[in-house]
Amino acid sequence: MEFRAATRHTACHPTADRTMNELLAAYRYTSNNHAQIEASKVCGCCNCVEIFRPDEIVGWTGLTVQDMDDPKAIGRQTAMCPRCGSEAVLGDGCGFPINAGFLARMNEAWFQRTMIHRPAPKKS
Ligand SMILES: [Zn+2]
Repeated sequence: MEFRAATRHTACHPTADRTMNELLAAYRYTSNNHAQIEASKVCGCCNCVEIFRPDEIVGWTGLTVQDMDDPKAIGRQTAMCPRCGSEAVLGDGCGFPINAGFLARMNEAWFQRTMIHRPAPKKS
């Protein structure tokens, strides 16, 4: 009851905000994540919300002809989802739980972020 009274006096939704921050924090693990995914047992995609094993990932982006033999550059590659091809893959090696519920919340935030960062249509 005390908890309920306290939340009613809060202007916004602190729990929701904290969750969103957590989701945003997880985003940095969706890019340059080769090394982290190598250390993961299970991976999930924020775009299609599928869960898969790291060794199912066959597509990586970020290597150039100049640094394709550089181990550091290889570790900074970005995983592509084996299901939908999006660069939206998270591994459990990042410390976030990879399960259906978490991915569903990441998916919501993913599309929100995509909308925020989508460039304005060019005026012709
Ligand atoms: Zn996917």
